[in-house]
Amino acid sequence: MSIDLDDLIGLNMTTVHDMPLIGHVDVAKALLAGVSHVDSSPRLVAAGMRHSQGGHTALSGGRVLVMEALNAVNYDPATQTVTAEAGATWSQIHHTLLVHGRAPLVHQSSGHFTVGGSLAANCHGRDPSQGPIGNTVVSMDVLCGNGETLTATSDNEHPKLFSAAVGGYGCCGLILRATFRTTSNPCLQEIWGFENQVKNYVGVLQALPNRTGAAGTSALHYGWLCCLEGNDFLNEVVYADYVENSGGAHALALKDEAWGTSEVLRASWSAATQDAKFQKALWKEIKGLRLNPSHATMHHRMNWMRAAVSFTASRGDPGGTRPDRVEMLQEYFVPVGQLLAMLAAMRTHLAPGNAAGIRLLTCTVRVVQPDTCHTALSYAPGVRVCLALEASVPLKGVGHERAPTAEAADVFRLLIDVALALGGNYYLPYYPFATSAQFQKAYPKGQTRLQAAANEYDPGRAFSNEFLRFVGV
Ligand SMILES: Cc1cc2nc3c(=O)[nH]c(=O)nc-3n(C[C@H](O)[C@H](O)[C@H](O)COP(=O)(O)OP(=O)(O)OC[C@H]3O[C@@H](n4cnc5c(N)ncnc54)[C@H](O)[C@@H]3O)c2cc1C
Repeated sequence: MSIDLDDLIGLNMTTVHDMPLIGHVDVAKALLAGVSHVDSSPRLVAAGMRHSQGGHTALSGGRVLVMEALNAVNYDPATQTVTAEAGATWSQIHHTLLVHGRAPLVHQSSGHFTVGGSLAANCHGRDPSQGPIGNTVVSMDVLCGNGETLTATSDNEHPKLFSAAVGGYGCCGLILRATFRTTSNPCLQEIWGFENQVKNYVGVLQALPNRTGAAGTSALHYGWLCCLEGNDFLNEVVYADYVENSGGAHALALKDEAWGTSEVLRASWSAATQDAKFQKALWKEIKGLRLNPSHATMHHRMNWMRAAVSFTASRGDPGGTRPDRVEMLQEYFVPVGQLLAMLAAMRTHLAPGNAAGIRLLTCTVRVVQPDTCHTALSYAPGVRVCLALEASVPLKGVGHERAPTAEAADVFRLLIDVALALGGNYYLPYYPFATSAQFQKAYPKGQTRLQAAANEYDPGRAFSNEFLRFVGV
């Protein structure tokens, strides 16, 4: 049996052996027992919602473990912690927490991702007081490649396993479940701000997470940089603080994961790439949001963590039909004081009409606190500002041979170099533009630490994927 499997951007077609559904931990254990040390024996690949964009959930000839059915969630009021199996999505966890007036501390801007995939990427979110998700883990159970099931914590229980499994993209074994600290789920009012020069925004970011505006302290924060042609490109910025409003009326229900401002912005940008006038009008509307009190939307915290990703989950440009372009994400983390230098490089290389043909659709801004677990592939050793780019990228080749053009790849590599030179980093779950040398520079001890952990917990490399192969684990 074999299956041709691609991820959501459609640039990583891989022929895998099969995709067994893991409805019970024993199924995973039996599959693990069947992996022999012979090189030709199919290796196991963990897969969550498969939103990563660089072969992280595939391996030629591998067995892709579909984890969605392993999704039990339980809240413990005594410890205010939530325990979720690896295939549970944040959206599922929201339903359990809502009843108890609690919310996750950290996950992506959307609830679509699984616990396993979020931990394996060590994701970050919109709460400027929080670091990557690993910081919020009390403990986690891992089915290691050596057959043992171990409980790992960041400090006293198998810390080496913890720091390789969190942010290690499936290294060492299969995360089965994890217990997370939670926070309260207050009503948050969205308050818009605007700066016509990004240099004035740096102070806003530097004051987070304790910046107190007229309305209170920012519990969540998100910025959108202008992607219009001209002087405003990556210079004007619209941002939103989400501030507690205890008197605010809001429904204590979970909203649909509908499009929010960023989805509308991005979709409109894509649709209007040929129509500069429309883009201008759109940006004006967005800027106008902050002046219009009727837009003072209120939701509880979790509802602000439920943006839609269905838009991105389409192959290629909107409609998914263009063979010569694809939309993809890239993220860079730089010290807050280096934001302007990073943006200067982006302005040079990504401006509309750039020689590489890259169309920047959106560029959002968040603040991430340091990774206190010192994970092997830590992207936030200190406070970092995260620039998340969504871009329409030109492709060369046809069918499964499609790949970003050399010119576009060069630009993304150059931006990685700039981020590294500024003491920053790039994020690993996306299309792997980075060279091996750039990876080594960005994550200096990463390969050695992952290899050391894998030698102990998965010496036969029963668990693997294309990303781990690239890293040399
Ligand atoms: C539209 C979009 C928005 C995003 N927004 C954010 C964001 O706001 N913040 C952020 O930090 N990231 C963001 N990301 C990146 C995202 O967090 C990662 O791609 C994440 O890994 C996706 O989760 P998933 O369930 O789809 O994992 P998958 O893509 O299925 O898997 C990702 C990795 O995790 C491993 N894995 C999965 N399950 C397990 C398991 N049980 N045990 C061990 N390893 C496992 C896989 O082998 C793979 O290496 C975004 C991505 C997209 C496409």
